[in-house]
Amino acid sequence: MKITLLTGRTFDYAAALGFDIKVVKSPRASKLILRIDNKERIPVLTIPRYCSSKRALEFVRSNQEWIDSCLSKIPQIRQFQNGEQLSLFGKTYTVRHMPKARAGVFFDGDSVCVSGGREFLHRRLRDFIKEQAQKKFRQASQRLAAKIDCHVNDVCIKDTKSRWGSCSNRNNINYNWRIALAPDYVIKYLIAHEVSHLRHPDHSADFWNCVAFFEPRYDKGRDWLKEHGKELYIYE
Ligand SMILES: [Zn+2]
Repeated sequence: MKITLLTGRTFDYAAALGFDIKVVKSPRASKLILRIDNKERIPVLTIPRYCSSKRALEFVRSNQEWIDSCLSKIPQIRQFQNGEQLSLFGKTYTVRHMPKARAGVFFDGDSVCVSGGREFLHRRLRDFIKEQAQKKFRQASQRLAAKIDCHVNDVCIKDTKSRWGSCSNRNNINYNWRIALAPDYVIKYLIAHEVSHLRHPDHSADFWNCVAFFEPRYDKGRDWLKEHGKELYIYE
């Protein structure tokens, strides 16, 4: 005989609440947990084993304001557009879509021109920025490293969602490609920061002295990243 347990009953939370929500039933959870999946732009509710759907619903409803405020703060993902102005490596450029141009992506005065179909504009421009970043950031990192008698093994451009840069104990430095879109002093601060890690693998006073040796006003760049860094994540 088949027994359908009451707890096995399916319940449509999204329909009951009137908005999208991801529900995870976890036998290991000890209480109701609500979090926001920033990438999917959706609240995620974890329900422990012995918890009624009524209680779970009440819990979500009592946190409605918090959910709305979190969701409204997630920046909209967008793509590069023809005609928009971009700060690239500290200089302002206008994106120009030139479908018939032959040369891929190239700088032309105050413009950054992108050839090919419109549907490829974002990806092409992003790949171009990554390529340029690789060259420019590698050069800049090597130049600074030489000043403190250090050596950069390799510089990589990454698409991380949470970090601006990192430096490994093998002297490899990684930069997030989106930093290319930040003001010049922010880029300089980040490079000074990562290169200083070649000598100081921590965030000690000596480390910050080293950053200041490269960029005496590094606090400006650091503050900008704290305040505006998230805005650069609108580009995927
Ligand atoms: Zn650091």
